[in-house]
Amino acid sequence: MNIEQLYRQVIMDHYKNPRHKGFIADPSYMTIHLNNPSCGDEMTVQLKVEDHQITDIKHQGTGCSICCSSASVMSETLLNKDIDDATQIIREFYELIKGYPYNPDILKGDAIVYQGVSQFPARIKCATLAWKAAEQGLLKIKEDEAK
Ligand code: ZN
Repeated sequence: MNIEQLYRQVIMDHYKNPRHKGFIADPSYMTIHLNNPSCGDEMTVQLKVEDHQITDIKHQGTGCSICCSSASVMSETLLNKDIDDATQIIREFYELIKGYPYNPDILKGDAIVYQGVSQFPARIKCATLAWKAAEQGLLKIKEDEAK
């Protein structure tokens, strides 16, 4: 098995068995909904933050395998992280998706399987949709904290 096949297997595993999938009707969660018209992907991400730490993440959406699997990977990658660290991890993920050098000390785990996406510019929005939702949610949480 070559590396592309291995990465494809990880993506399909997250697509078929998504981690932390669901929706919680709880106003203490920050809820962000985004869509990607170019592919028809829809994604809702929910973040629970306590003491500057992400203590729960949920995602629910419909879309292509890249988008839905990436939401599962995002939730696993950012869960239990400090919100500033999570923001940095998201930035490194964008570097990886664009095919730029990224910091492997910051971005770890299954997220690296998306590095091939840089060769398919049309899919970049699919791979980053859930991460963009999480990023916007964290930004709003920080803005609320600053008030
Ligand atoms: Zn898509």
